Amino acid sequence: MKKILVVDDEHDICDFVQSFFQERGYAVVTASSGEDALVAIKNEKPDLVLLDIKMKGMDGIAALKHIKDMDKNIKVVMVTAMEEQERMDEACRLGACEYITKPLVLDNLENAVEKNIK
Ligand SMILES: [Mg+2]
Repeated sequence: MKKILVVDDEHDICDFVQSFFQERGYAVVTASSGEDALVAIKNEKPDLVLLDIKMKGMDGIAALKHIKDMDKNIKVVMVTAMEEQERMDEACRLGACEYITKPLVLDNLENAVEKNIK
């Protein structure tokens, strides 16, 4: 079973995305900060990370840097609000494979995961 790590400082989003992918046959773990995400990656070894950019403390870009240092093969899909799209150039340079925008559209979310999790 493929495993997804959902990282978002909004608990509602973590819960919602977790049930969405669990219903589709994935194992899903969540983290509510960049710091927690790094611990989860070490302990859970997910195949793909859905990573919110805007978080208190370590933000998604900083977390992405650490994640890629830990495992450069892990797939990371950034989740960003419209006004943060300029930060995606930096995220791509750091090795994010794709991004999706908030508010989340379920089809986009599912496509981004299925395309990258193989
Ligand atoms: Mg956020």
